[in-house]
Amino acid sequence: MTIPSDPKQVKAICFANIHVPDMRKLEVARAHGAYEFLPTVLNEFDSSRIIDEVKTAGIRGRGGAGFPTGLKWSFVPRSTGKPTYLMCNADEGEPGTFKDRDIMRFDPHLLIEGMIMAGFALDVHDAYIYIRGEFLHEANILNEAIAEAYAANLLGENILGTGFSMHLTVHRGAGAYICGEETALIESVEGKPGRPRFKPPFPAVEGFYRCPTVVNNVETLSTIPAILKHGGDWHAQIGQPNNTGMKIFSVSGQVNKPGNYEVPLGTPLKTLIEDYCGGLQHGSVPKAIIPGGSSSPWLMAEHYEIPLTFDELAKAGSMLGSGAIIVMDETADVVAVARRLAHFYAHESCGQCTPCREGTGWLERIMMRVEAGQGRPDDIQVLSDAATHMAGRTICALADGAAAPILSLLKHFPEEVRARLVESAA
Ligand code: SF4
Repeated sequence: MTIPSDPKQVKAICFANIHVPDMRKLEVARAHGAYEFLPTVLNEFDSSRIIDEVKTAGIRGRGGAGFPTGLKWSFVPRSTGKPTYLMCNADEGEPGTFKDRDIMRFDPHLLIEGMIMAGFALDVHDAYIYIRGEFLHEANILNEAIAEAYAANLLGENILGTGFSMHLTVHRGAGAYICGEETALIESVEGKPGRPRFKPPFPAVEGFYRCPTVVNNVETLSTIPAILKHGGDWHAQIGQPNNTGMKIFSVSGQVNKPGNYEVPLGTPLKTLIEDYCGGLQHGSVPKAIIPGGSSSPWLMAEHYEIPLTFDELAKAGSMLGSGAIIVMDETADVVAVARRLAHFYAHESCGQCTPCREGTGWLERIMMRVEAGQGRPDDIQVLSDAATHMAGRTICALADGAAAPILSLLKHFPEEVRARLVESAA
């Protein structure tokens, strides 16, 4: 099969049926192909074949880190005498990210089917969907869909008479951003405060109750049915080498049509903004773009035509992350944006690491006075020192995420910060 080079001609994977009315109902979902290939997988595939297909597909995790999914699955030790768990990360707390919510809201059976297939591959009998507390509506939809799946023997004991059993439970979090970090998520499901663990050991070896645990994002798991149905080679043809498949980008900020768009990886940023999002609200080139959620370093106008892949964004000094693109046009107050993000990270730090706990508070307090035009002469130096010394010195990446907007602001817009120092204003 040849994949068209025009991104608009490539068929969506996760959003293929998103606009079908009542797709959340099992009957409608089945009429559009849901669970159609599941009996084949359960009867004719085995674990190694599934993992090989996922490796061949080349899919990298859609939640932020971009780690190859098949490789992650292959790290799970077998014959340990312990159960293996599967957890779907549906926390979606990264500012600017709102893609997983649409999958769960409009096509929950796609995710459930993907989890059954993943669970079968990993010999999982208990799986969880960890959903942020604010997504009550989506949690209710998932629970209704899961109940229908149980009634149809798509979940539970002896699924479709194949001998494979798997139970699926929705676990609502209490609203902390840090629970999107996989070890904090596991702590939270265990009933503890959601605080990240030191790694290693990684969850694939020691996760939920110290048992092997695979944590995958909603979009990643929802892609599995298409990969197994069409084959890993089919998926590997979409996108670019080492950056394969479709990706949902959540585009927000100063564009005319913000929203979720599923396009092949490698689609140029400019094409996404201009052909899908109706262009910028003001001007012809962006002032700054946050390409992969609020914790990713900012891109500038010279990156407007960059292909959206994990590798190209890393080369440009940023990251694809969860695919949350926040666009700032020429009218944006970049100091206000950085101050708002500093507030978010100070609020969300779990407090375990001193550089993060203290540093995020410093960044917020300094940015508040800078935004108000009351910055002190040495504030630029203190912001730079604090942000630089936070990054890379903590248990998890939240501190790096908090530092990124500040360092981006200082690097690309120092004159806008200087203009708000008392000394300069005088
Ligand atoms: Fe908690 Fe921040 Fe340390 Fe992460 S970096 S473990 S959020 S204190």
